Amino acid sequence: MNDIKVAVLGSEAVGKSALIVRFLTKRFIGEYASASECIYRKRLSIDGRQQNLELYDPCSQPSEGKSTLSEQIHWADGFVVVYDISDRSSFLTAKAILHLIRELNFGATKRDADAVVFLVGNKQDLCHVREVSREEGQQLAGETHCQFYELSAAEHCQEVALMFSKMVRNASQHSKAK
Ligand code: GDP
Ligand code: MG
Repeated sequence: MNDIKVAVLGSEAVGKSALIVRFLTKRFIGEYASASECIYRKRLSIDGRQQNLELYDPCSQPSEGKSTLSEQIHWADGFVVVYDISDRSSFLTAKAILHLIRELNFGATKRDADAVVFLVGNKQDLCHVREVSREEGQQLAGETHCQFYELSAAEHCQEVALMFSKMVRNASQHSKAK
């Protein structure tokens, strides 16, 4: 069976690494070194079947040999596009990334594409300093045909795990259908 490749994209400091580490280790550490991009590998059981997962965690600093956003989009079977609900500019970046994913990966013919693109508003625990409403997130997800989640890598262990498991399940069904 093919590995499922999932790219976690979004602007710097939205919590991409925190979400990935939360999913892989069930822990929230607080600080995540990001000197280079990396791919995490995990073997997991989905509906009783073993599945290999590759999770791409980009790094924001420019570095040699770093892949471009469009290369990352071509590589992946599924996408988790993250913004920080307390940072409006990160929401605008997420919007631009969603449009680029649509442009590069899915023509009008791929009607099931929403199964493999998730929009995630992270840092829900910071809702007292929220800059992006839940409704705006839902609306953007609707416009760009993706599934919407609002969660917190810091506080929601279960929800983060469910979100990634759902992505892997959808992406594996999608890649079988290809
Ligand atoms: P990345 O650049 O997108 O990989 O972001 P990081 O995962 O390195 O996180 C950036 C900062 O946001 C770190 O200081 C994290 O501790 C913090 N952070 C990540 N997720 C959350 C969250 O859900 N809530 C809060 N309050 N802080 C978070
Ligand atoms: Mg990071």
